[in-house]
Order: sequence, then structure tokens, then C-alpha cells
Amino acid sequence: MNYKQLPKIDLHCHLDGSVRPETIIELAEQQNIDLPSKDVNVIRDMMIAPETCPNLIEYLKRFDLPLSVMQTKVALERIAFEVYEDAALENVTYMEVRFGPLLHREKGLNIEEIIGSVVSGMQRAEKVHGIKGNIILSLLRHMPTDEINDVIDVALSSWVKAWLLLILQAVKSWASARSSFRLLNMRKKKVSM
Ligand SMILES: [Zn+2]
Repeated sequence: MNYKQLPKIDLHCHLDGSVRPETIIELAEQQNIDLPSKDVNVIRDMMIAPETCPNLIEYLKRFDLPLSVMQTKVALERIAFEVYEDAALENVTYMEVRFGPLLHREKGLNIEEIIGSVVSGMQRAEKVHGIKGNIILSLLRHMPTDEINDVIDVALSSWVKAWLLLILQAVKSWASARSSFRLLNMRKKKVSM
């Protein structure tokens, strides 16, 4: 069977884990970021967790390199477009891409700009390649609650809510999950969703 031709859906794709190594090299050059290497293979290896990964921290280190170039609107739009483009070329017809908006503020972008850039990259790919997409916002458990609230505020704002599936990912405990869900419900009522 030709799996590439088979129409597929992808419901679990990480934006920062799916960046083309070539794009990392190009963006680093544009942004004057020093990379440990300009060899595509070396960069690709740095983004792949080893077979035996001792712990989650070690695993998450693989995201450092892509995240370093994902701090501008242009980079986020391009990467979102390319992730959807790569999927479309493998005949994925629908894909949900997740990312943590709070990880993209290092150069001063606000949450609205961050989410907006990713959504617009996705929408461009939808137009060009006919793929359908949705964005899942990851709320990171090590981030302070008020920062998490910023993400929820933008996600519930009028222009963006139609495009987003908001989930609470990796919450520390059931208690914190429950209080976050309560907060979300309250806010939903307020904007009468
Ligand atoms: Zn995952």
C-alpha cells in the first residue's frame, strides 16, 4: 500500500518539534543567531531525542534550538505554513497543530501577535494546499497562572476563537486542572460563548 497517497488526519503535531532543519539555518542567519553548526544533518540530529532518553527535561531540550528562531512574526508564520505544507504533501487532509504561545515572547511579541502569526501561516497553507487545520494552545504547567490567563484571554477574543481548540495540557495536578477549567468556564460565560 502507498501510505503517502492514502488520505490521513494528524491530531497530534507539535509546531516546535516539526520545523524543517533547513528553515532553522535560514532563520538563524536572518536573525543573527549563532548555530552550533550549519550542516542540515547536524541540526536535524540535535532536534531528535535519542532512543534512550533519561528524562523529560532531556527530551524537552530538543525544542531549544527551534524555539530560538521562533521569536518573530515572520518566522512563526513561515514555520506554521511549512508544517502544514509538509503534511499536505504527504496527503494529510486535516491536522491539529499544538504549541505553547508563552514560549515565543523572548523578543517582545505579545500573545495576540504570536497566535495570530501561527493562525495566518496555517490559513495560507489551507489556501495554497487545500489542507484543513486547527491550532491547539498548550498551557505550560511551569508558567505562572497570570501568564496562562493571558493566553486564555486571547484565545477567547472574538477574532481568534473560531480557529482555536483550547486545551489545558500537562497540568501539574488534578487540583490545578480543575481550577483552570473553572476559570475557563467563567470566562466563557463572560464572553457568552
Ligand atoms: Zn505531544
